[in-house]
Amino acid sequence: MTPTTYKEPTARGYYGQFGGAFIPEMLYPNVEELRDNYLTILADPEFQREYQQLLRDFVGRPTPLFEAKRLSKKYNTRIFLKREDLCHTGAHKVNNTVGQILLAQRLGKTRIIAETGAGQHGVATATVCALMGMECIVYMGSVDMERQRPNVERMRLLGAEVRPATSGSQTLKDATNEAIRDWISNPVDTHYIIGSVVGPHPYPDLVARLQSIISEEMRKQLLEKTGSELPQYVVACVGGGSNAAGAFYHFLDEPSVQLIAVEAAGHGITSGHSAATSVLGKPGIIHGSRTLLMQDEDGQITEPYSLSAGLDYPGIGPLHAYLAAEGRARFISIEDETALRAVAECSRLEGIIPALETAHALAALGELGAGPNDVVVINLSGRGDKDLETYMKYADSIK
Ligand SMILES: *Cc1c(COP(=O)(O)O)cnc(C)c1O
Repeated sequence: MTPTTYKEPTARGYYGQFGGAFIPEMLYPNVEELRDNYLTILADPEFQREYQQLLRDFVGRPTPLFEAKRLSKKYNTRIFLKREDLCHTGAHKVNNTVGQILLAQRLGKTRIIAETGAGQHGVATATVCALMGMECIVYMGSVDMERQRPNVERMRLLGAEVRPATSGSQTLKDATNEAIRDWISNPVDTHYIIGSVVGPHPYPDLVARLQSIISEEMRKQLLEKTGSELPQYVVACVGGGSNAAGAFYHFLDEPSVQLIAVEAAGHGITSGHSAATSVLGKPGIIHGSRTLLMQDEDGQITEPYSLSAGLDYPGIGPLHAYLAAEGRARFISIEDETALRAVAECSRLEGIIPALETAHALAALGELGAGPNDVVVINLSGRGDKDLETYMKYADSIK
């Protein structure tokens, strides 16, 4: 059956065969409270007023839709960049944390927890906790804390406590386990801010709705600049899938718009060092949700790899698994080297240094098959300052 809308999951949080809420019984009350209240709170005019005001005055929205003339010339098509890199804290992630902290307040919560891998979501969470005067605890793998020192320092400066996860591979997956353990022990006063369109229902839907401001703005801006709300292509990189969900959202039910999701191929899809989940993944359960997941024959999650810390996640959100299964979005994967070349290209042709995650979306330009009369929107999810050290290290690839 063809769905009437791709946007909304079923009442139990299913997008086709993907989604749901597979959680330990001890977590039921927390997730249920959220599920029973999130739609009502999001629809409340007072919530919307405060959310929109913070998006404008704190985050800096609407972000510009910039016509990239020199890139357009090079690829012989009309390219626009949605400038999420200009959001406060340098990426789209804060759209979600601003919304979730307002939601937490309305649920009567006083304490916020979050997991973080590279530290970007941790910083976006610590930022809104400082804004609202809420206690903030961020779980982070101790290996990641070592690798992402500056973000640990940012979180601490913002008043958050960063708690190391010292089990397993001491990375994102272990930090997530610690956060879940904390939430089970503190069900009454604590809200868990998840950073992407992943996790048990209602998180994928909640985060997609909070990020959908991106495509809402795009439609208005496209109408102004091109005379039509609808482009031919919308392109975004996918780690868990939140910036892509936001960029796709208001185009999901417009079949004329081609949605392009770009994953990290790392050293190459068949290299054993990759994060191309839509190609390598099989259905399985990760972080409370049934989705596509990189796993071995015994169902053990395989370690993902990408030079870009924001894309090395072994799953994708259930909405994206569904879009892949239905053929509604086309999935492309881009290797590290190609992404690094796209960093240089965007920097030198447009004067914008993109995040390494974002560079994967930019690198897909050569593979779209877009023509001179087509309009292509690339979601520029974040800025590259945080990746400068990597760019210096791989200067030979970037030349
Ligand atoms: C975290 C991050 C991503 C990946 O996360 P999604 O949930 O897939 O959007 C992409 N780009 C930037 C700049 C990020 O910080």
